[in-house]
Amino acid sequence: MRITDVKLVPLYSPLKEPMRLSVGTLEKRPFALIEVHTDEGIVGLGETFVNFPPWSIDERKVTLENVKKLLLGDDPMNIETIWKKMYAPLVKMGLQGGCKGAMIQVISGIDIALWDILGKVKNQPICKLISNNPKQKLKLYATGLSASDPVGHARKLVPEGYDTLKLRIGFDPEKDIELVKNVREAVGKNVRLIADANMAWDYEKALEMAKRLEKYELFWLEEPIICDDLDGMSRLAAELDTCIGAGENAYGLAEFERMVKKRAADVLMPDVSKTGGITEGIKIAKLINSSGLPFSPHFYGSEVGFAATLHFVAATEGCLIVQRDISDVPLFKDMLKEPIRIDDGYAEVPKGPGLGIELSWEKLEKYRIC
Ligand SMILES: [Mg+2]
Repeated sequence: MRITDVKLVPLYSPLKEPMRLSVGTLEKRPFALIEVHTDEGIVGLGETFVNFPPWSIDERKVTLENVKKLLLGDDPMNIETIWKKMYAPLVKMGLQGGCKGAMIQVISGIDIALWDILGKVKNQPICKLISNNPKQKLKLYATGLSASDPVGHARKLVPEGYDTLKLRIGFDPEKDIELVKNVREAVGKNVRLIADANMAWDYEKALEMAKRLEKYELFWLEEPIICDDLDGMSRLAAELDTCIGAGENAYGLAEFERMVKKRAADVLMPDVSKTGGITEGIKIAKLINSSGLPFSPHFYGSEVGFAATLHFVAATEGCLIVQRDISDVPLFKDMLKEPIRIDDGYAEVPKGPGLGIELSWEKLEKYRIC
């Protein structure tokens, strides 16, 4: 089998309310799927992260056009070989151009598509290609609460089975505290709360805010400071009783090795659409396991990358809980012929070959941009 083409499928979904993070605001949500085509008609599907910067889709189109030249004619089932063939030259280019992460994000999307092809050829779900005994259901936490009514949204999510919720902070400090307080009071002590500052603070401010938030007993405080300040992250993690979560902006095994070595976080958060795909994710999970720390995968894209995340977690050990975007994104409902089953706060790992999902093109076409 040979690779005949690699295509980017850029999509935009309108939003009922903007997605507001301390790092930036999106008025509409961008998504980028990657299709790997073969001479036997099998098409693998992957996803690459394009939320930030908001012009990522334009960059990704040009990058993928160049990267695909490396892949044409290769056997898509030699995933590790292809991964290595892409990694060294692209990361060197990325380092020269100051865009290493963007290069690894492209590799991530291609890697997921190659695993999808392998599963389709072997007629097995991806998790079964990795583990003899993959998990079938995975516990979720909800993220993406309505910014206009976070308390009302939180109250609605708990009876749906979500006992862990993530809140976005890192804006006005008093409003941040008020948000956590109000949600804590609304949902009670038995619901676990995560607060994500998206790198909003410097070290001193992070220390102050973390102390003020202590009484609300956060499950973890995510990215309180700029995440590549590993010394600062390490000092915070050591100083605070509250767990620190980070890793969504760490690229490849080597960066996770540095995080683990420095104990820069208590919960590590690899993202298969960013950090090198499923191939690198498996290695990162093993590394995290050997450190004795838990992981919780980050993922904030479409159902394609979510399916990849589920297979990755189902086949590895040491995962605390899986992130689920519950925000109101019309594209999610229109994306798949058979939606991924979510019930009582658990996701069922798709059972079909590869990712185990099928796109609903008739409904998806309206979100597609050229
Ligand atoms: Mg985050």
